[in-house]
Amino acid sequence: MSSKAKILLIYTGGTIGMRKDFETGALKAFNFSKLLLRIPELQQLDCEIETISFDKPIDSSNMNPENWMKTATIIEDNYDAFDGFVVLHGSDTMSYSASALSFMLESLSKPVIFTGSQLPIGDLRTDAKENLITAIQIASLQENGLPLIKEVCLYFEYKLYRGNRTTKINAEHFKAFTSPNYPELVESGVHLKINSELFLPVQRVRKLKVHKHLDNNVAIVKMFPGMSEMVLTAILTIPKLKGIVLETYGAGNAPTEDWFINLLSTAIEKGLHIINVTQCSGGSVSMGQYETSSAMKKIGVISGKDITTEAAITKLMYLLSQKIAPKDFKTIFETSLRGEMI
Ligand code: ASP
Repeated sequence: MSSKAKILLIYTGGTIGMRKDFETGALKAFNFSKLLLRIPELQQLDCEIETISFDKPIDSSNMNPENWMKTATIIEDNYDAFDGFVVLHGSDTMSYSASALSFMLESLSKPVIFTGSQLPIGDLRTDAKENLITAIQIASLQENGLPLIKEVCLYFEYKLYRGNRTTKINAEHFKAFTSPNYPELVESGVHLKINSELFLPVQRVRKLKVHKHLDNNVAIVKMFPGMSEMVLTAILTIPKLKGIVLETYGAGNAPTEDWFINLLSTAIEKGLHIINVTQCSGGSVSMGQYETSSAMKKIGVISGKDITTEAAITKLMYLLSQKIAPKDFKTIFETSLRGEMI
């Protein structure tokens, strides 16, 4: 039996495999296996690579829970046969998908590395080759015959991040992602600098459990000075809505006006889960630090601590799909499940 790592490359779509449409000039997802033939470098890698593609590759703006389920199912079906998984995905919603998959794949003991590129792989100046080759190399890393990385990550422009800690910050630069509240797990330079002390703590070996169904009766609400009572009332009374991620200011602050607190309080009493995350790109919510967050703390708003909005909304979808008693929901949300918060 070969001791080479076996990696499954899952192509969901995204710029990495796109080509210009001859008529419109717009970039469109393309049959990836044909493009792979154009990367002979892959054969030099010290691992065995197999590929699988979505029947219809998508621009990641079309990503949704159904496509997350498809990706999770591919990983589940191939879990025993492979040592690691590299998911090729458009960068636009990659942080949402990496976050979602981190919650959907419980007790993961193999790497699932999301990557993509800002320029198509066929482009002369592409960033795709480095991203793809290094992502595969990192997915193949082993220690004592076992995968070194055992979590959902995102590799882009020389850095491997914990996937659910990332956010897309630039639509043009090759450095398209950052992980504002957690350092990179691996940095690629002349050598791979592996910060193994930052990996998720090793759990007792348990079997992979795949949670395929997410509940999307959720919304993200970004606060802004001047938000009216009418707007917030309309959102909080959406039929079937079960939870919202409320992007507040700074360390989790929001207006102290009565109408605002009363609306949130009534919604919470009716069973809605409200998660407080900061709209700052880094730092943490700390309810009670200012007067402008004390009332929210009192009425039972959930602290998102230093979680990203992407991880908060997908964690909310995941937890809503689990049968959690309403009295336990806040405590479970405020607990780090996959290293997504402090
Ligand atoms: N629109 C593309 C996508 O997210 C952008 C990219 O791949 O980087 O699918």
